[in-house]
Amino acid sequence: MLDKIRDLWHQALASVLAELTEEELRWLLCSRWQVSLLEKRRTTVIVSRVRIVAALFALLTPLWIVVDIAAFEWEVWYPLVLARLAATFAFAMIALHAKQMNSMNDAYRILTMLFLVPTAFFLFSYQHMAQFELHGLQQAFSTGYAFLPFVMLAGLSIFPLTLVENIAFISPLFIMQAIAGIFRLPVLDWPTFTASFWLMALIAGVAVLAGLSQLAFIIVMVRESVRDRMTGCFSRASGEELIELQFNLVRRSGEPLTIAFIDLDHFKEINDTFGHEAGDVVLATAARAIQNQLRQGDILVRWGGEEFLLILPNTTLPQARHALERVRAAGLGKRPDGRPITASIGLAERREEPSDYWPALVEIADRRMYRAKQAGRNRIVSEDAPAAE
Ligand code: GH3
Ligand code: MG
Ligand code: MG
Repeated sequence: MLDKIRDLWHQALASVLAELTEEELRWLLCSRWQVSLLEKRRTTVIVSRVRIVAALFALLTPLWIVVDIAAFEWEVWYPLVLARLAATFAFAMIALHAKQMNSMNDAYRILTMLFLVPTAFFLFSYQHMAQFELHGLQQAFSTGYAFLPFVMLAGLSIFPLTLVENIAFISPLFIMQAIAGIFRLPVLDWPTFTASFWLMALIAGVAVLAGLSQLAFIIVMVRESVRDRMTGCFSRASGEELIELQFNLVRRSGEPLTIAFIDLDHFKEINDTFGHEAGDVVLATAARAIQNQLRQGDILVRWGGEEFLLILPNTTLPQARHALERVRAAGLGKRPDGRPITASIGLAERREEPSDYWPALVEIADRRMYRAKQAGRNRIVSEDAPAAE
């Protein structure tokens, strides 16, 4: 039975890991190399799980007060009950306040707070219990308090953390266990202490594996959902998230950001003459041709049908025009009859437009693309028509 489970686990891990590229495997180690969309998903997952766990513990922590009062003398239980009430309050605050979180730093902060509450509770209750000589049932209940670090370690497994992040959260727990040992140094039972350390290491290992495999699943999920299958470009939904992210970034730094709206010319004719499937091939070819000319950091989105949106961070209008002239010179591929595919392109730069709202910038680029169509297609337009006299 155990062998079967282990086999299954290995298979699951192998299939997930085998599906990851080398770059994605690096993302498992450390968040420094991760892409923004993955960070965003991970932040959302971590924060929502922190809230669930905090809410659960805000409910469970006070329930045990009944047991404390029933099991212990009052000088033992009343500090415990006070500590429980304080912990309940802290958990409730975390559950209520962890809402709008945008970056991994926010996620780290809230996760740290979630771990600090039981840590403080553990250190307090442990040294408190150590003052009393407890026997029988009372002693059994008091050892329950010593299990808290194990629960926390196991709890870590529900968060999709990288290896480095896991280590950062696990090491304080081991330090805490060591401190708890020091409290009892005079009466420390070494074999039990060593065994519990070993057990903690085992649980930590399993928790890290569980966390890493969750992260791997999220990586695969993000990759599958952010890309449009046919063209390999970013999908519309993830494209919108990316523009928003880029927009917020450059607004702070004051860097330029140019958007290109690209619409293939006479595409309907290709479909009508050669069939829809030939049209699909042309679309994929054109997307690849654009992608081949781009810099790292440029973002190509399939905005809809045969329309693409190209996001060029830190790029001025003349630089963007230059880049797209390069794309046009290299060509967008050929139609089935051998004629070149062309596109009409509209450009808009954030700093040159009055609105600081990204959909407005897309609209301007779209309008200029339409002007390129009207002017005869196969060209780039980067300004509006002069106002009528
Ligand atoms: P224009 O030069 O004015 O842009 O002409 P057009 O024919 O490209 O213009 P229009 O926007 O009217 O046509 C777009 C066509 O693209 C219509 C639609 O059938 C086709 N199309 C949209 N999505 C797909 C797709 O995924 N695959 C294929 N094969 N065709 C698509
Ligand atoms: Mg169109
Ligand atoms: Mg078109």
